[in-house]
Amino acid sequence: MNNLLPPAEERDWSLVAWHGVSFWVPNDWTFIPVNDPNETRIQVISPGQFTVQLRTQKSKAKADLHPVIDKYLKVIENQAKKKRQTFTGRVSDKPDGELEYNWRSDVKTHGVVRQCPTCMKIVIAEVTGGKNDAVLAMSKKILATLKDHQDDGWIPWAAFGLVTASPENYRLEKFQFTSGYLTMRFAKNGQSIVTDRWGLAYLALEECTLEQWFIRSGKWDSSEGTLEPATIHGHEGFYWTAQLKPLVKLREAITMLFKWKWPAFKVSGAGWHCPDTNRLFMVTWQHRGKIDFDELIERTVCHNSGQSA
Ligand SMILES: [Zn+2]
Ligand SMILES: [Zn+2]
Repeated sequence: MNNLLPPAEERDWSLVAWHGVSFWVPNDWTFIPVNDPNETRIQVISPGQFTVQLRTQKSKAKADLHPVIDKYLKVIENQAKKKRQTFTGRVSDKPDGELEYNWRSDVKTHGVVRQCPTCMKIVIAEVTGGKNDAVLAMSKKILATLKDHQDDGWIPWAAFGLVTASPENYRLEKFQFTSGYLTMRFAKNGQSIVTDRWGLAYLALEECTLEQWFIRSGKWDSSEGTLEPATIHGHEGFYWTAQLKPLVKLREAITMLFKWKWPAFKVSGAGWHCPDTNRLFMVTWQHRGKIDFDELIERTVCHNSGQSA
């Protein structure tokens, strides 16, 4: 995750990473997740009037970006006219082929349209704010951190402070983000990765040891294995490797047979307690072998330096 860094002077900003696109925003802004693998859409709203909106389009060839932005500005202009608001819009060409645009009606917006020369993805990203907000400065700061792809074989995922990754051929299958519990599940051909995070760790650990907690929370009704104590991200934790129980294996094998896939019987897991953020983390990977579990744990970041609960 070393190449995903917040702006130099904003160590406590949060990473938003979704379907391979990532950027940093102030800690108290809220990400609104939409799971669409074909067209990434990201919206992040501030407690005030700022909103970040981002959309990507897949493309195979070099595209002319001017029609994309002209059409978009026309729609905004028509909306403003209907509401009898004044509208001004401006598009400027940047030397690297990127287009920068500004528009102003009852709100102010600054954004960019760019096509990545490596993955050819087209990205439209903008920051909107109220008339008295320093929109241009905020937008430039956020958009400077924007990355539209990773080239190390891993897709970063980050939402509500839960930072993890998936190998690039896995897809996001489901997610749940509530204040006390966050989870993301990735899957590929019968193999799956689940990253869980629980808040209020001290409360959870009042009645049991950390080991007992992971035994309770792990999926031990379907697999059998043993927990090995380990230090994970500098914290007390456990690693485990497990096999699905024979009956569960049989069920899994039959299900996969009908899907023409090889069943995945092995489970690698890790769980740890991050006192810095008062959270419990658990990562489980059901697989057929040959996985880089250490790398996954390395990329599941529980705390940033300078970040507290
Ligand atoms: Zn790219
Ligand atoms: Zn930690």
